[in-house]
Amino acid sequence: MKKLTKNLLIFLSVFYLLFMTGCSLKSAPASSNGIDKKEKSKTTQTLNKSDEKAETSKENTNGDTKTDTNSSAESNNTTTNNPIEMKDNTESIPVLTYHSVGNTNGNQLIISPELLDKEMQWLKDNGYTTLTLAEAYRFFSENKPVPKKSVVLTFDDGYVDNYTHMYPILKKYGFKATIFVITDSVDKNSAYLTSTQLKELESNGIAIESHTVDHKKLETLSYQNQLEEMKNSKLFLEGLLKKKVDYIAYPFGTYNDATLQAAKEAGYTMALSMDQGWSNKNNGIYKLHRVYISAFYDMNTFEKRVTNPQY
Ligand SMILES: [Zn+2]
Repeated sequence: MKKLTKNLLIFLSVFYLLFMTGCSLKSAPASSNGIDKKEKSKTTQTLNKSDEKAETSKENTNGDTKTDTNSSAESNNTTTNNPIEMKDNTESIPVLTYHSVGNTNGNQLIISPELLDKEMQWLKDNGYTTLTLAEAYRFFSENKPVPKKSVVLTFDDGYVDNYTHMYPILKKYGFKATIFVITDSVDKNSAYLTSTQLKELESNGIAIESHTVDHKKLETLSYQNQLEEMKNSKLFLEGLLKKKVDYIAYPFGTYNDATLQAAKEAGYTMALSMDQGWSNKNNGIYKLHRVYISAFYDMNTFEKRVTNPQY
């Protein structure tokens, strides 16, 4: 009996203990759940925040790569998705020289709109970037890299057909170009661009720069006269276009030592000759070479001049 009572007592105590523990176990989760929820939400917030941080830092770390990929995808919307290859100024750029655009046969200075279109189409299809002279200047003088496939399009003399024929073609491809204008012909000779056309071109990606006042052979003039030709054309265009005119192409592409000095004194930062070849900073920033594009060249010759620095 005694043993039985003892066992019963033990059983009851164990039962009581279990019951009490059970209560506390039951009640405890209720309260601890409350805390848990708050804590959990706090923790989750913290985690979320740190996740955000982690994401942000991830974005930051990948930022450059991301931007590069995006920008190259944007600007390289031609045939390939590869990032654009850049070049530094130990290398050269082809600066193409055109003049008139029209349908006159037999003049190598007057390229037909059809052929010009074909050449521009080729540049577009082959992933070329057209640079402004300002971009070319930063490349030569500050070594700001440019795409490997860069080209500068220049048109000498400022013929009115640059507005009627060249401008619509370049617009179609979204290309930039520069026209070197003989300022004494503006609004005076109907074969040349008017001041209204010059303003429109300037504000639509076709930069207007100087080709002197009178298109004289500079090297035949005195230093003072060379300086006037360059200064006065610069002043005229700056007044008309309300911008700084920093670049000049020498008439006939010819020059002497005084020309280079006068161009600098007149306030130009870069000048172009007609010495044949791709432009390289080692040529000198006041007599950069250009690539002549005759109206008589076929597509093979054109491609060779644009793709091969030793064409
Ligand atoms: Zn000229």
